[in-house]
Amino acid sequence: MSSTDLFELSVLDAVRAIDAGSLSARELFEAYRTRAERDRGAGEDGLNCFTWVAGETPKDGAPGPLGGVPLAVKDLFCTEGVPSQSGSRILEGYLPPYTATVVERLSAAGTALMAKTNQDEFAMGSSNENSAFGPVRNPWDRGRVPGGSSGGSAAAVAAGLAPWALGTDTGGSIRQPAALCGIVGLKPTYGAVSRYGMIAFASSLDQAGPLTRDVSDAALMFSHMVGRDVSDATSVEFPEEVRRPSAERLDGVRLGVPGELTGEGIEAGVLACFRESLERAEELGASIEVVELPHAPHALSAYYVLAPAEASSNLARFDGVRYGARAAGATDLLEMYTRTRHDGFGAEVKRRIMLGTYALSSGYYDAYYGRAQRVRTKIAEDFRAAFEQVDLILTPTAPGVAFKLGEKTGDPLAMYLNDYCTVPMSLAGIPAISIPCGLSGGLPVGLQLAGPAFSENRLLDAAFALERAIAFDGSSARV
Ligand code: GLN
Repeated sequence: MSSTDLFELSVLDAVRAIDAGSLSARELFEAYRTRAERDRGAGEDGLNCFTWVAGETPKDGAPGPLGGVPLAVKDLFCTEGVPSQSGSRILEGYLPPYTATVVERLSAAGTALMAKTNQDEFAMGSSNENSAFGPVRNPWDRGRVPGGSSGGSAAAVAAGLAPWALGTDTGGSIRQPAALCGIVGLKPTYGAVSRYGMIAFASSLDQAGPLTRDVSDAALMFSHMVGRDVSDATSVEFPEEVRRPSAERLDGVRLGVPGELTGEGIEAGVLACFRESLERAEELGASIEVVELPHAPHALSAYYVLAPAEASSNLARFDGVRYGARAAGATDLLEMYTRTRHDGFGAEVKRRIMLGTYALSSGYYDAYYGRAQRVRTKIAEDFRAAFEQVDLILTPTAPGVAFKLGEKTGDPLAMYLNDYCTVPMSLAGIPAISIPCGLSGGLPVGLQLAGPAFSENRLLDAAFALERAIAFDGSSARV
């Protein structure tokens, strides 16, 4: 197979070719590994999407149904003996003694770890500019951000530097970079996938999920990730088999469009693509109805209390004693802790720790954390009510297209607004997928579909039908 053809294969097609004997897993891995290594060594000329690339190609194709397909994994997944730094200086050089459950499961299914991907520090960010290892560039326009926090994973897949990648989503970090890079990203139902071995940001929100070139690959990766894990008490068995999506029509499917997430604040070019997608859906037989999510506009405020609160607790463990870097020259233990955290954490992480510590402090706990939790419940109830009226909810994934590097770094509130459409689903714990739905000013726009908890099969089917109808062409992002 010529190398250009090889890079155009979806993972599903690559697995078929490996099974049929027309492609060797070794050849596929080596082709991607070489590309990834070149990008990693290219400095300013590369995308900076990798923090580590495998030194060699595994001798034999891995056993299992996925036949040895290479996998890129967000830096925050623990991978035994391989740097796992969550984009932070404080974890520089940290080599975990064990591997995250989802990575284990994907390798048991036959994937081979090819690279770790760059990300915002501890997954805090929407642009990948908060990484201690420098920003990732968007392959559609290298002067722009790829979105965050799984920006390295999204850019790598969009550019054809990895066939697929694993990311995590706390408030939008799979869906938003998928949208800005013109690929598919699925945030599963909270609890569908194990969090064991993911370096935690906000434990009641964090979920792992696929970033892929198409919907079939997302279903394929997801099917090998799901299920209860004894090491994560919040994980449950997925209630049905994850199916390969096959729907060609959407007859009888009721789609809800919430006015709260499809109006003010969304760029005109994004709304135009969104409306065209609704027309495609109607042509496929779906009906479109207006639904109400009255508390959704408050999701961002609740999220930016809850996520920092959980982060301030989760990040307390980084003290220079147990993991990664330790500041030198301290004369006592407290000074060592303080200096390590001062030197090791970046500005955004420090901001979140301060916000979260304040929100949880005695006297303020109920006013901030307690109230944010009540808003969270209201948001979940809004979705439950909406799903009595419709099957799925559609919104744009991000309010705008990829913005210029540096454009929003000085204004945290403007940065937080990128999550406006994705955070409500995270707070409600429901699954949502972003698929590319067109271009605005030459840059990709994402369409978000959300469904009730554990409705991934339906969600993937609808996304598959729409993907065919929209026929987005992502080839101009390839390296
Ligand atoms: N952008 C959001 C934040 O900064 C979401 C990040 C995420 O989903 N990990 O918190």
